[in-house]
Amino acid sequence: MTASSENVRERIRMLEGTGMRTFWDPEPVVWARTEGSRVWDAEGRSYLDLYGGFAVANIGYCHPRVTEAIREQAGVMTHCPSAAPSEIRAELYERLAAIAPPALDRVLLAVTGAAANETAVQLACAATGRRNVLTFSGAYPGRTVGTLRYTGKHAYREPFGVAADAHFVPYPDPYRSPWGVHGDTGEAALALVGSALFDPASGVEPPACILVEPIQGNGGVVVPPAGFLRGLRELCDRAGLFLVLDEIQCGFGRSGRMWASEHEDVVPDLMTVGKGVGGGLALGAVLGRSELMTTWEPDAVTSTFLANALTAAAACTAIDVLRDEGLVERSARLGALALARLQSELREHVSVGDVRGRGLFIGLELVRERRSREPDAELAATRQRALRDQGVLVGRGGRYGNVLILAPPLVIEDDMLAEGLDAIVEVLG
Ligand code: PLP
Repeated sequence: MTASSENVRERIRMLEGTGMRTFWDPEPVVWARTEGSRVWDAEGRSYLDLYGGFAVANIGYCHPRVTEAIREQAGVMTHCPSAAPSEIRAELYERLAAIAPPALDRVLLAVTGAAANETAVQLACAATGRRNVLTFSGAYPGRTVGTLRYTGKHAYREPFGVAADAHFVPYPDPYRSPWGVHGDTGEAALALVGSALFDPASGVEPPACILVEPIQGNGGVVVPPAGFLRGLRELCDRAGLFLVLDEIQCGFGRSGRMWASEHEDVVPDLMTVGKGVGGGLALGAVLGRSELMTTWEPDAVTSTFLANALTAAAACTAIDVLRDEGLVERSARLGALALARLQSELREHVSVGDVRGRGLFIGLELVRERRSREPDAELAATRQRALRDQGVLVGRGGRYGNVLILAPPLVIEDDMLAEGLDAIVEVLG
């Protein structure tokens, strides 16, 4: 007999350290089974997961092809040390190179997204002999000690006494501009980056790279104004600086293009990927230009579980599934419909300040009152729980915790998505 949800929660509460996310919510859903876009709890209640397990299940949960690939690989070899070449690793590199932006033709693996960002920053630092990073408020590169140094949310760093080791510029936000103006064009942020790079009087330690999310995820699905990424690319070119794009959350089809930076035709020097690329297993990677990726001596970077054979098999199949099932195009098509519907049906709603996004990556910013735009995190938390009680899971983020986030599996069926949007409109209405 399987244990009840309450029993599982209690056993976890008895033994788990308190820093984990389970402690946010007094009654988090206990996950017992997943398939496609659905999660079932211990009592067999079904939930439609419009957050894709924190933006991971791009190809859906337990995709039969991935499950089969994992089964097959598990019968042959699961672990293989990172110092030992294996054919499955070669296949993974070939798959990643095939979906990488042009000119990013080499790969370094990592076990998580944070580790991929650390490797990318290490590469830029080693190549330039510098150690500073220019990044943006609201950025979420991870929670390791390394990434906390350049995490754009002071509250994540502060409890651990980790010092910021980065120069932060406000991320342009068309709805909630850091300069208090509506209709942020991104020019002010670009001017600040320019002065940090070119004006010696700014006192900014020259950075090794600019690290930026093409769409901020944890920051609240903030889509920067058109031209912003291109502007950063131009500034990097002028300053001879590396542009590192963190596509861990917004990449792999999430935004309706393979990579969110494609919306602006921007190619970085290094790109970090993670989350959905592993097909449900933990995988991070840095994709980069050869000149940068071939400078290190052997053993400069390693970790025990890099190149894990099981993960590589799952990731190869996830990449194949994304292509074979046309999921990038599906994300663009369904995302545009979902966004238009939510924008239209919530247009007059007093507490919905903004509905934005790209592809199946949508943020709904909740406010006390539309005119003042005052963030309402409590309302967002209440509505998130109300949706959960109706069997629909959504995420929550944003600088003020007031943005409901949708990042559903890209395989979600049309009628399931419609069902989820009905629930959102009803709960917010
Ligand atoms: N970068 C972005 C944009 C993310 O959203 C995340 C995780 O949410 C990370 C990096 C860190 O990835 P991980 O949690 O796998 O370390």
